Amino acid sequence: MFTAANIALVNPQISVLVLEAASQPLQKVRISGGGRCNLTHHCFDAAILLSHYPRGSKELRGLFHRFQPEHTIAWFAKQGLHTKTEADRRMFPVSDDSNDVIQTLLKTARKGNITLATGVRTQQITKHTDGHFELLTQDPEHGTQTLTSQCLMLATGYSPSGWQFARALGHTVNSPVPSLFPFKVTSSPLKGLQGISLPRVSGQLSFEGDKKSTITAEGAFLITHQGVSGPLIYRLSAWGAPKLSEHQYQATLKLDFLPDWTDEALKAKFLECQETDWAKKQMKNTRFENIPHRLWEQLLVQSGIDIEGRADTTSRKRLQNQLVDSLKRLQLSVNGRSPSKEEFVSCGGVLRKDIDFSSMQSKQCPGLFFAGEIIDIDGLTGGFNFQACWSAGWVAAQSLAQNTFL
Ligand SMILES: Cc1cc2nc3c(=O)[nH]c(=O)nc-3n(C[C@H](O)[C@H](O)[C@H](O)COP(=O)(O)OP(=O)(O)OC[C@H]3O[C@@H](n4cnc5c(N)ncnc54)[C@H](O)[C@@H]3O)c2cc1C
Repeated sequence: MFTAANIALVNPQISVLVLEAASQPLQKVRISGGGRCNLTHHCFDAAILLSHYPRGSKELRGLFHRFQPEHTIAWFAKQGLHTKTEADRRMFPVSDDSNDVIQTLLKTARKGNITLATGVRTQQITKHTDGHFELLTQDPEHGTQTLTSQCLMLATGYSPSGWQFARALGHTVNSPVPSLFPFKVTSSPLKGLQGISLPRVSGQLSFEGDKKSTITAEGAFLITHQGVSGPLIYRLSAWGAPKLSEHQYQATLKLDFLPDWTDEALKAKFLECQETDWAKKQMKNTRFENIPHRLWEQLLVQSGIDIEGRADTTSRKRLQNQLVDSLKRLQLSVNGRSPSKEEFVSCGGVLRKDIDFSSMQSKQCPGLFFAGEIIDIDGLTGGFNFQACWSAGWVAAQSLAQNTFL
């Protein structure tokens, strides 16, 4: 729809037919960002922006040079949709309503010769020797139909049919696996602490018998009923998506609740606290940094510290060894992935090397274009996935509308 809307803006004469299997268009936009649509990220520095894409950053560099978040914001503003930035730099429509994004795209598309056909599922695509495409479609009103077109764009998202069409038209598809999900931890040292969150935790994910594949990340952290979640876990799940799938979602997660403290500094600080601030207190009444009280108490117990006992009689060794270990290297066994209630994308898709990113045209099948999740590109949560879609969709529209691909 974004490509169609841009074709409408560049050349309203061009006839475009958008085929949508669902009864309503843009349903992913509707549910995105909890119904608010986190449509991009307030980041205009290409290097920082690219660091949020586990796969595809090299190819996105060129696309962002032509259409990046600044352009997205300006594009939507020009079409009447104003955006706002939240404290974590995620950007939403001022109205906090994803329907406004949908209406903006549909309204812009109406400026050109765009037809939207909903409830029409494409079942088969063939390319004829004279260069045109033939599509076999199915819908309740017309049954099976054959449509022809000069050019075609596949923007089928996380849909097996799209990848099937791409394969049939000569492309290689990296088998898609999930990205962006919370971890299941059935026997967790954090059991009973669901709901507790920390603003900044560092995590390290490793896999048995695969020492080279350690993944590290930092971010806010949340303890859930089923395990662990939050931006830190989403980051680890994104960077580790292929490895996690390969290892059937079995991994070891080491957490560092105090990433700004070295072991030595912590040991010295505990010694000082024991003799000063904490001295006469029971260990259960002590506090440290921003560690939530219930978590602190559980980590003390796990470190073999008597929480009823006084701080000045607590074993120094336990404070300096076990407690420091629990705070800086708490080990969890990840044994599955939980369904994501927030953003979710696929890692994998049409190989990037099969696409010319200066036009978004296929290198294998002239006249065929790609944009969105169907391509082997994915980002972290925060509006990065939509941004990759807008950038590719805009570039494709420029070449389609100006026939620069021919
Ligand atoms: C719950 C959730 C929340 C999200 N929130 C955000 C967010 O806030 N910010 C962000 O950046 N990203 C978010 N994402 C990711 C984002 O939605 C995707 O990256 C984006 O929608 C991909 O766009 P697309 O056009 O490639 O695919 P889609 O949006 O999935 O669109 C593909 C369309 O193709 C249609 N289709 C597929 N096969 C056929 C066929 N054979 N015939 C006809 N039609 C077909 C589908 O019905 C679908 O409408 C979220 C994802 C989920 C699941």
